[in-house]
Amino acid sequence: MSFSNTLRRISCQGATSITTFADFLCSKIDPGLRLAIYDKTALVIAERMRSEIRDFNGSRANLEVCILKYLAQGENFEKFKLYIRSPADFLESYIQTHVKTYCLDENSRLVMFLNETLTQYYEKIQKAVFTSTTVVKDRRVSNKIISLWLDEFCRELGGVLRLPRSDLVGIEHLEITDIEFLNNAMTEALSPLRDRLKEEFARADLSSFEKQPHTILLEQFPGCKAQCPFCWAVCTNTVPNHDGDHQLVFHRPQFLGGYKWVYTDNLVIDICSSLVASDCYFIHPGYPRTLCKKYRDAGHPFSTWNILPDTSMQKYWKWFVCHFRAQLEEFYNGKFDGRGEIPASWHKITKQEALDELR
Ligand SMILES: [Zn+2]
Ligand SMILES: [Zn+2]
Repeated sequence: MSFSNTLRRISCQGATSITTFADFLCSKIDPGLRLAIYDKTALVIAERMRSEIRDFNGSRANLEVCILKYLAQGENFEKFKLYIRSPADFLESYIQTHVKTYCLDENSRLVMFLNETLTQYYEKIQKAVFTSTTVVKDRRVSNKIISLWLDEFCRELGGVLRLPRSDLVGIEHLEITDIEFLNNAMTEALSPLRDRLKEEFARADLSSFEKQPHTILLEQFPGCKAQCPFCWAVCTNTVPNHDGDHQLVFHRPQFLGGYKWVYTDNLVIDICSSLVASDCYFIHPGYPRTLCKKYRDAGHPFSTWNILPDTSMQKYWKWFVCHFRAQLEEFYNGKFDGRGEIPASWHKITKQEALDELR
């Protein structure tokens, strides 16, 4: 065996070690990187939708108004029914639908955002490789140099992705002396990983996310989900499980909560806030007959609401009652007759007037 042959064998071993090291490290980066990219992209989507779409760039009250406008514009009674039954569920599906459209329409924003995040994270990893090499290259403890390099690398990436140092003990004893060469080896090993992720992202849909973008967006509109026991309108307090009474500004005709005038099939078109100022009684199955004024005496959940007397009713619900009269009579199994007769003035309200009045 000649002298030069021996030299070549050693350097070959060194190169193999470096490649093994780089490939192993990339295989450990892979799952954490994928997860970090999806998590970060979900945040980006929520953030962008907040700033770009009018429905989402204000308060929850603003979003509620946008939903009412959307419902009136569509004039779809089935959707109104879903909204009235459960405003909270409707809000969630409204946001979900918007996220889907925003991400998956012809602009393919989902793929674009995933690739943008991938580019950012790829650069962060490359920077971590470079920084770790710079930090350890002058150390005079060559038998521990890889271990030190890995310490540095994991520290650099700590806030970026999940890469436990303990997962890397298998490669910390590899004999690598040419630490500068590691930069190139890592770039070479990272590049197929990036290409693979890019391919995956081209086919990605919203199911690929561990935490859904619409859930993140929904969390930015927190609020109490309690519904008025009379008209089923949702409490407007923006703190879930808040202290104190539930409250809302605009109550609605009480037939929306299933109320009819006693011994008749006349639907109650009066709103809660005007009935609490009247001398009427209400009867709710399972509860004692109670004066509307003293509604709290009926017990829970009536006792948890603060309904202030106020006779003003939104034009929106007046328009709604006139527009869907037939469907409402059928759905609520009653008539807008007798005490439930629709005032003539309501019929004059146009949809545009109703929408203009919403804030
Ligand atoms: Zn009410
Ligand atoms: Zn509440």
